[in-house]
Amino acid sequence: MGLLVGRGSQREVGLLGLERGMMHMIIHGDRSRWLHGSNGACIRTDPYPARALRLVLLGAPGAGKGTQAALIAERYGTCPLSTGDVFREAKRGPVATLDGAMKQAVELMAQGRLVPDETVVDLVRERGHCLLCNYGFILDGFPRTAWQAEALEDLLLERGRRLDAVLNYTLPRDIVIRRLSGRRTCADCKATYHLEDKPPAAPGKCDRCGGSLFQRSDDHPDAIAVRLQAYEESTAPLIAYYEDRQMLHNISADGAPSDVFARSRALLDSLADFAFA
Ligand code: AMP
Repeated sequence: MGLLVGRGSQREVGLLGLERGMMHMIIHGDRSRWLHGSNGACIRTDPYPARALRLVLLGAPGAGKGTQAALIAERYGTCPLSTGDVFREAKRGPVATLDGAMKQAVELMAQGRLVPDETVVDLVRERGHCLLCNYGFILDGFPRTAWQAEALEDLLLERGRRLDAVLNYTLPRDIVIRRLSGRRTCADCKATYHLEDKPPAAPGKCDRCGGSLFQRSDDHPDAIAVRLQAYEESTAPLIAYYEDRQMLHNISADGAPSDVFARSRALLDSLADFAFA
C-alpha cells in the first residue's frame, strides 16, 4: 500500500482528514526495510517526491515528534524512521530471529541495560539503504547523542548525502509532564488518548477497537522525571552540535498537532530550493 500522496488540494484534504488510524497506516505500512533490516522489502509504490527531504526531529518525550513525523511524511512523501519503533518491533518477535546489531541491542535491553551508541549506529548502518532512499527520510529518536550525530554525518557523507534540516520541537517542562502523565494507550491497536485533552468516550475503553486503555510504565511520574533528565543531558550537546552547523530550527510544540504542523510546514516550505507546487 502506498502513502497518500496527492498534490495541492488533494494533499490538503488528506491532511485535514488525517485520523489516528491513517497515521498508523502511514507510519507502519511501508518501512519494512527500516524495521527488519536488509531482509525487509519495501512495498511503497507511490511516485517519488519531487525533492527528497532528509530531516532529523528532536524534542523531549511527549513533544509530539511521532505525530509531526506522520504529518510531514503525508505532505512531503518522506519516510518516517524511528529507532524506538525498530526496538519495539524487534522485542515483539523471538530473539532467535534477530541478527547483527539488533540482536545485540535486544539482549542488552533484556538485561535492563542501555543500548550503547556504537550498537545503535551499527543498527542504522545495517539499514543504510534507507538513508539513500529517494523518498527521503525523517529520523526520529536517532541521533540521540552528539556521538551518534557525528556517526550519522559520516554515514551520510559515505553515501553522498546530507541533512536538509534538524527540527527541534520545544515544549516547557510542565506541559511535557502534563501531556505524558495524562496519556493512555490502547493495549490492542496502540491508539493514544489523553485523560483531559482527548478522553475516550467510555472510560478505560478504546473508541476505535474497544481495547483496554493502559498507562505506559514510562509515563508514570517517576519514570517521566528520569526520562526528561536523560533527554536533557544527552541532547543538550546534540542541540549545540546542530546549532554550530546552522542546521537547527526550533519549533514550538505547544498547541494542537495541526498548529504545530503549520509551523513545521512554514519552515519546510521555506527551505532553500524546495519548490512545492
Ligand atoms: P523512543 O520511542 O524514541 O522513546 O525509544 C524507545 C527506547 O528505545 C528508548 O528509551 C531507548 O531505550 C531506545 N532507543 C531508541 N533510539 C535510541 C538511540 N538512538 N540510542 C539509544 N537508545 C535508543
